[in-house]
Amino acid sequence: MGANTNVVYINRIAFIITTKCTLSCSHCLHLNSRYVSRAVFEKDKLLNDVGRLMAAVDTVGGVHVMGGEALLHPELPGIISALLQEEKIGHVGLTTNGTVLPDESLLAALKHPKAEVYLSGYSTVPNTGKWIDILRQSGVSYHTGAAKKWVDAGGIELRNRKADELKSMYSQCLYRECVTLLDGRLFVCPRNANAVNQGVIPFDLSGGVDLRKEKINTLRDEISHMLFDTEYLACCDRCDYILPSGEQRQISRAT
Ligand code: SF4
Ligand code: SF4
Repeated sequence: MGANTNVVYINRIAFIITTKCTLSCSHCLHLNSRYVSRAVFEKDKLLNDVGRLMAAVDTVGGVHVMGGEALLHPELPGIISALLQEEKIGHVGLTTNGTVLPDESLLAALKHPKAEVYLSGYSTVPNTGKWIDILRQSGVSYHTGAAKKWVDAGGIELRNRKADELKSMYSQCLYRECVTLLDGRLFVCPRNANAVNQGVIPFDLSGGVDLRKEKINTLRDEISHMLFDTEYLACCDRCDYILPSGEQRQISRAT
């Protein structure tokens, strides 16, 4: 993300349209396997959130539609098509773990120069090869091959770190670049977003912006404040994605 005094540019937005998932990966950075109750968010509300966000910012490099598993949302093609029509959005990605195969309506929506599919490429998901065949035949752009190693961000319990340790973590963490839109609220970091959505961290302590409650004329300033003035997140004290020393604990990918 970047800005001068006049421009609010967000490089990437993770757009969570459902918390349902077909897998339960033990080291999911999004904390997905911790959900007790899962939701499929209403398309109209999701697109209204996007509309308010677009009114407040200048440009978004890419919006990445995801879950959970995004293909569990019954209105996924319509959501993709609507995002592709937003002039301020540079490209629209669909992230999938590959367990559910696409139907014709989804392929039709994805066959667009601004659309791309990101296949997680888990070795235990047999449909990955079928997905690639279908995307090639349909002329849809895609990427596959997630990193073979994951980072162990640990549990969600408090670590009781000092402020200077949390600032050091946050300043070095790539996930502060991953702005996340979840159920009408915009956050820095998908782990932070899901921790709030699960009630682990109060929204007031998350540094997030409520797109549905914030007045439209103050939204731009609030988003700018979140992007550029945050020193660390309360969630960084519940996370080992990057340690205060800058080290990361690498582990084998869960699937
Ligand atoms: S498939 Fe993705 S969202 Fe689902 S549990 Fe695994 S890492 Fe998390
Ligand atoms: S260190 Fe902070 S910003 Fe990075 S993943 Fe963890 S909670 Fe998110």
